[in-house]
Amino acid sequence: MSDIPKKPVRVRLAPSPTGLFHIGTARTALFNWLFAKNKGGKFILRIEDTDVERSEPQFEADIIKSLKWLGLDWDEGPLTAISDKRQETRDYVGEYGPYRQSERLEIYEKYLKQLLDSGRAYYCFCSKEELEEERQAQLSQGLPPRYSGYCRNLSTEKITEKNAAGPSVIRFMMPEGEVVFKDLIRGQVKFNAGLFGDIVIAKDFNTPLYNFAAVIDDETMQISHVIRGEDHLSNTPKQILLQQALGFSQPVYAHLPLILNSDRSKLSKRFNAVSVEDYRQAGYIPEAILNFLALLGWHPAGDNEFLSREALIKEFALSRVQKSGAVFNQEKLDWLNSQHIKNLDIDDLIERILPFAKDAGWTGDREFLSRVVKVEHERLKKLADFSILSGFFFRLPDYDKKLLIWQDLSLEIIAANLKILKEVLEKTPEQKFTQADLTVILEEAVKSNKGAFLWPLRAALSGLKASPGPFEIMDALGKTETLSRIDIALKKIVG
Ligand code: GLU
Repeated sequence: MSDIPKKPVRVRLAPSPTGLFHIGTARTALFNWLFAKNKGGKFILRIEDTDVERSEPQFEADIIKSLKWLGLDWDEGPLTAISDKRQETRDYVGEYGPYRQSERLEIYEKYLKQLLDSGRAYYCFCSKEELEEERQAQLSQGLPPRYSGYCRNLSTEKITEKNAAGPSVIRFMMPEGEVVFKDLIRGQVKFNAGLFGDIVIAKDFNTPLYNFAAVIDDETMQISHVIRGEDHLSNTPKQILLQQALGFSQPVYAHLPLILNSDRSKLSKRFNAVSVEDYRQAGYIPEAILNFLALLGWHPAGDNEFLSREALIKEFALSRVQKSGAVFNQEKLDWLNSQHIKNLDIDDLIERILPFAKDAGWTGDREFLSRVVKVEHERLKKLADFSILSGFFFRLPDYDKKLLIWQDLSLEIIAANLKILKEVLEKTPEQKFTQADLTVILEEAVKSNKGAFLWPLRAALSGLKASPGPFEIMDALGKTETLSRIDIALKKIVG
C-alpha cells in the first residue's frame, strides 16, 4: 500500500503489568511478532508501568514468563544488570530486558515541557468535585461529558500561584475538527476530535498517562506499525493529534478484532480461562496456543488450519485479518492441542510431561516413564490428561473383582483363564515383553475366545473399565509387574 512508510518494520507489544498475561494480549503479541518475522523487522516489548498503584512486578514477571513460554522473543531492549532489583525477572539476565516506561520518565518530562512551552498543553487545577459537577451538568443537558477547558487561559501569575498552592494535572489542548486515518484492517476511520475535550496527559512530571507516554515511545522507538486490539481504536485519534502537536511521524495502524465468547459477548472468565498461565497449567502446548491464537481473526490462504510456527511466519499477512469479532472456539483449541502433541517427538514429549508426571504417581524412573508416555502419546489431548490416563501404570487402582468378568462367564472360568495366561507369561523372557512379541506369544492361548482372556487380563493390569489394550500395557509394565498384577486379580477371585 502506498501509505506504508518506507521505514524499517518495528512493532511493539505494550502490556500494562496490572494482571495476569491475558490470552488476548498473547494474540496481540503473536500478530506483532509474526508481522515482524514475516517482514524481517523487529519486535519490541515495552512494559507500560506508569500506573504505579496498579502495576506490580509479579505481573511483569508473568508477562515475561508467558512470552518466553510461547517463544515470542523480543529483539531489543536494555541489557539487564545482575543488580536488577526485580528478582522475579532475573531469568533474562544476559539477554535483553524489556523497555519499561518507569525507567523513561526523563524522556516524557522533556516532551511534556515542550508541549507546555509551545502552549499545546496547560496546567489544570480543577478539583475532582468541580469536574464531577461539570460532568453532571453536561449530562443533564444531554451533552456528551468533556472538560470545558476552564484552565486553558490562566495567566502565568495565576499558574505560579496555583502551582504553589496545590496539585495540578497537565492537559493537552485538543484541536477541533475531524481526525481521519487509514487502518490496515478497518479501512478509513473518522473521529470528531471536538468530542474528546482536553485530555489529561500527565498527573505530574513523574506520572505521564497512557496516551501521551505511548506516543512518545512509539516515536522514540521508531515504531512503524501499531498493531493492537480494537478496544484501543478510540485512543488512536488522540494519539495522532498528540503526534501532530509534537511534530512526530505517524505509524501505520492496524486494530485487531475483539475476541468473543461462544455467545458473542466479549471474552470473559465466565466462559474460558483467560490467562496464558491457566492454559499452560492445564497442559496446552505453546505450538497449539500459537496456532489457535493466529486463527483468532486471521486465516491462511489455504484450508489447512494446522500450522507450525514456521508456516505461520511464512503465511502471515495483515491483509487476511478480519474486521468482525473472532469467536473463541474451545473445541478447536483442544483439537489443535491434540494434533500438535501427536506431532511432537517422544523425547520432547517426555520432557514436557515431566511437570505433570508426579501427579500421575510417577516416582522417578525415566525409562519406565518413557514406556508409559509411548503408550499414551496418541491419546493425549492435553499434557494434564497424562495423570488421569496413565495413573494406573504407576499405582494399580483398587477395584472390585466383578470388573474382571467378561460377559456372563463365572469367576472360576475367569480365574482359570488368567492362570493359563500367567503360565505362558512366566515362561516368556523379559526381553520378549514387547507389544509385538506378546501378541504372537499369547495368540495360541487366547484364540478360543479372545474376550474371555483379554478382557480379564486388561482389567487385571489396569484396574479400570477403560484403558489401552493389554499388550501395550504389558510392554510398559514389564514382566515382574505384569505377573504381580495378575496375582492380585487371582487373589481377589480365589481369595
Ligand atoms: N498499555 C496498553 C494496554 O495494555 C497498550 C495499548 C497499546 O498497544 O497502545 O492495553
